[in-house]
Amino acid sequence: MKVLVINCGSSSLKYQVLDMINETLLAKGLVERIGIEGSFLTHEKIGMDKYKVEEPMANHKDAISHVLKALTDKEHGVIDSMDEIGAVGHRVVHAGEKYASSVLITDDVIAALTECIDLAPLHNPPNLLGISACQELMPNTPMVGVFDTAFHQTMPPEAYIYAIPYEYYEKYKIRRYGFHGTSHKYVAERAADILGVNIEDLKIITCHLGNGASVTAIKRGKSIDTSMGFTPLEGLVMGTRSGDIDPAIVSYIREKENLPYGEATNILNKKSGVLGISGVSSDFRDLEEAVAQGNERAALALKVFAHKVKFYIGAYIAIMNGVDAIVFTAGVGENAINMRDIICSELGNLGIKLDLVKNKVRGKETIISRDDSKVKVLLIPTNEELMIARDTYNIVKALNNK
Ligand code: ADP
Repeated sequence: MKVLVINCGSSSLKYQVLDMINETLLAKGLVERIGIEGSFLTHEKIGMDKYKVEEPMANHKDAISHVLKALTDKEHGVIDSMDEIGAVGHRVVHAGEKYASSVLITDDVIAALTECIDLAPLHNPPNLLGISACQELMPNTPMVGVFDTAFHQTMPPEAYIYAIPYEYYEKYKIRRYGFHGTSHKYVAERAADILGVNIEDLKIITCHLGNGASVTAIKRGKSIDTSMGFTPLEGLVMGTRSGDIDPAIVSYIREKENLPYGEATNILNKKSGVLGISGVSSDFRDLEEAVAQGNERAALALKVFAHKVKFYIGAYIAIMNGVDAIVFTAGVGENAINMRDIICSELGNLGIKLDLVKNKVRGKETIISRDDSKVKVLLIPTNEELMIARDTYNIVKALNNK
């Protein structure tokens, strides 16, 4: 079965087609500037050069029509007709407390995800637009929703309840949800495979360090705590997000700077993190370059980032009463050699010893701890699309076998 994976943002859309018989990627692409002048699609049939389509795309349905055209294109396509797509897997950010795993999309599922719009106002609306556009264009193809929050639904109440009046949880569902679940789950399962140990017998800390970043404590294959919370703003220092701060700072800055409504949250989401500290960039490559040129604030930003990752690793070792493996993934985790080095430095007493030579690697699945390190440290490139395709395939295959 061939599966189409769709990940819709507000003005962009990423897609992949995988053949699930042997989990091979056939094609992938990206549509940008949906609903904005200058829309374009970049499509890549694996093994061939990228090809670009510049056409007006007023909405997500237009964008998906162009994706389908590219997929069935004589030269660049990978299928003869859309009937070859057995299922579509959609990435959806927020499923609230409703779903702890991926599900076949039905009217009830759409209603539940619509209810979650309040919880993820930037993400769920475009995710839902992608689903409805695909349903219109492929009315007979089963669709599956794969949720960023689902994997963390196993967190116990002591990890997800905030110490604020309990009625806010009851009335507004204010609690910690966690995000990046698909990625944390994927790399934890890969780590167990690579180590040749049943995931049920492992305590794993997964560090997804990208533009957005989070750390998860995974015990017996289940998420028991994670650093993001009610929104993806909590936890680690990120590219442009503050992560954990004293909540009193918000009203203090608002008053001092006389900020209009909503601006404080905007600052914490878009102007903070390593960008806010350094004043240089949210991109770690730019920061490393600035450090090489002697920029002290860029150096400070990297140190603060590393400190927070270390802080969570320590916390999760305590929460799990130990750790067997630590995994680094996503843009920074997979590529920033120095950053992994700083995070793992001086953890020898906890049995964590990075091999500085093996660590000199980017974007490759490998063990980077020393042979005598009690805790294994791994670099595992994430593959959320493969995870979405797997869940989609398994759910639809079970449906077809009924
Ligand atoms: P997201 O999916 O959250 O947008 P990614 O996981 O793709 O983010 O991570 C993007 C970030 O990874 C970039 O902003 C940059 O900071 C970092 N990154 C990518 N390549 C490198 C590299 N070679 N060295 C250091 N950092 C890198």
